[in-house]
Amino acid sequence: ANRAGNKPSTGASISIKIIPLETILNILNLSKTYQSAGRMLTVLDNINFAIATGSTNAIVGPSGSGKTTLLGLCAGLDRSSSGSVELNGINLSNLTEDQRAQVRNQHVGFIFQNFQLLPTLTALENVMVPLELRNERNIKARALDLLDKVGLADRGHHYPSQLSGGEQQRVSLARAFSNAPKILFADEPTGNLDAETSEKVVKLIFDLNKEAGTTLVVVTHDLELAAKTQRIIRIKGGKLISDEKTING
Ligand code: ADP
Repeated sequence: ANRAGNKPSTGASISIKIIPLETILNILNLSKTYQSAGRMLTVLDNINFAIATGSTNAIVGPSGSGKTTLLGLCAGLDRSSSGSVELNGINLSNLTEDQRAQVRNQHVGFIFQNFQLLPTLTALENVMVPLELRNERNIKARALDLLDKVGLADRGHHYPSQLSGGEQQRVSLARAFSNAPKILFADEPTGNLDAETSEKVVKLIFDLNKEAGTTLVVVTHDLELAAKTQRIIRIKGGKLISDEKTING
């Protein structure tokens, strides 16, 4: 008799399908050091974590703990001193700066605390930049559509200096989503915004993220924002000190 009490085997093998959580970002033994005033400064010390595709994640920690450096390495803006960053199956550690720029252009969206819009371009033109870099078609119509999504269809011809902080961050979100990124990195996205504006921008980040199925990794001091993600990674003195799921995880 068959132990599980099932029908006798016909000889066909049983296939058990295990679907692992797909990993978009894999950080392995990552370290970053700088030479400063003749001595070596370790800013990141042997960091390890993996980020699941489509998940939302926060990186928190005191000022100077290495969060921005870590995000820059994850996004391919900078190079590690040792260890590796694998983004969408591509090991960034082996790439030249140009190749990393290509990977960013293909797969990554980034928003910053100080927005980093180009001051001499209008809102619409700022959103068009990544599309132009990718030689996409119908660039203007698509950029207008993105501005519409962030509620700024009527601000396309305004320059960054003519927009409020919240509006500038919404333009930078439209720009970040313009290449349909697989992963969005956000570095203190609400750091320069008042509480009410922060709340609106955070809602927009999560709404756009959900709609597009993008993975989110956000560095923040804002514990309310961190609590909205599925997982909180804590960094202190360049070391990962905890990595826990939130109630959403
Ligand atoms: P956080 O984002 O947590 O505030 P950062 O990643 O910005 O921390 O910085 C971590 C540490 O690395 C700080 O002590 C900072 O001074 C140092 N650091 C960052 N960039 C450089 C650099 N280019 N050269 C030397 N030290 C740096």
